[in-house]
Amino acid sequence: MASDPLFERLWNGNAPMEEWTTAVSHGAITPVADGIITVHTTYFCGSVTAIRTGEGLVLIDTAKPDTARRTLEVIRSWDESPIHTVIFTHGHIDHTSGIAVIDAEADAKGVPRPRIIAHRNVKRRMERYVASQGFNSLVQGQQFNMSGYVYPVGQRQPDAVYDETLSLAIGGRRFELFHGRGETDDASFVWLPERRVLATGDFVIWVFPNAGNPRKVQRYAAEWAAALRQMEGLKPAILIPGHGPVVFGDERALQMLREGAEALEYLVGETLALINRGATLDEVLHGVKLPPAFLAKPYLAAKYDDPEFLVRSIYHFYAGWFDGDAAHLKPARTAEIATELAELAGGARKLAERAARLSEQGKSRLAVQLAEFAGTAAPDDPAIQAIRARVLQTAIEGDSSLMGKAFLSVYQRQAQQRAG
Ligand SMILES: [Zn+2]
Repeated sequence: MASDPLFERLWNGNAPMEEWTTAVSHGAITPVADGIITVHTTYFCGSVTAIRTGEGLVLIDTAKPDTARRTLEVIRSWDESPIHTVIFTHGHIDHTSGIAVIDAEADAKGVPRPRIIAHRNVKRRMERYVASQGFNSLVQGQQFNMSGYVYPVGQRQPDAVYDETLSLAIGGRRFELFHGRGETDDASFVWLPERRVLATGDFVIWVFPNAGNPRKVQRYAAEWAAALRQMEGLKPAILIPGHGPVVFGDERALQMLREGAEALEYLVGETLALINRGATLDEVLHGVKLPPAFLAKPYLAAKYDDPEFLVRSIYHFYAGWFDGDAAHLKPARTAEIATELAELAGGARKLAERAARLSEQGKSRLAVQLAEFAGTAAPDDPAIQAIRARVLQTAIEGDSSLMGKAFLSVYQRQAQQRAG
């Protein structure tokens, strides 16, 4: 709420989101408007909004099994009516997999399970999760450092899907669903016109838009910006982000939408301008720099994704996988390159020592490259692996984003293990 002191500190950049996560961890209700609440349990799980209607409750998202139970208890402390409809804002499991808890409650009470409504591509996503379950398990485990993680598949599919827009009237309330592509290709935002309440799904997440994840399917930065502009046009009075606290007041809601759109439009525009002039990926990556004023906004900090990863994703969207370096069209094996370079340098040890020096001088990117060559040329040399581990550790400490740190850490842990 606008008067909440913790919210004010978050909005002004004077409190970390972890503090908010601690504050809501017992399951917190934010009263949004008459007959509308949002329930939070942690920043790291999608929030759940419950709307009272004449036919029962409508939920926007479900949380995931470890938070859904508490979320449902909190909703039940507010309203005991059956859940009539569940809208999935997109198919990510922290927004949808709590449906199992909701269904189990309906079964126990002997009432019908709720109808699920979502964009058509949510079904396709669920099919893709079956096809790539091994990889998704691995990546999710890497990104959040959970070894042995198994990506859940087989949850209940939507009962009704739509393509561009969908208007619903449920128990005297109106719901307008709009499809847009952003972090995912199956996203919806939900507009409750009577109270000018906008549930954005993950188009707004209180950090820099997550459109560049290195190990996920293509994201859609330009269309993400377009969706935010469309939301601006609705002129919401209250904004319910996919993650993090609810934002009250026209001015703040519009500011959050507008600045998110501007940051994305900047990256897309600059990247495209260079691509259109024939730039290589190397030139694009080092040529496009987001003005720091964007990243200084407490809701656009590069704490989860990294704008540089977005530039790569935008390049890939328009220009395909080839980076414009002749050596990378049909590359030699990395191990062969590493061995060749080590021999030229006078041994893998030399490469590793040079990496260590560059790392100390703050040239972390170059240091990581040489350390990886050294480590690949001499995978069983504990001393070289120890240097590699230190170089990677320095790179991790110098990185701001969760993803940057997490994926570097995979290799840092490997190097440390090999160092003995
Ligand atoms: Zn999410």
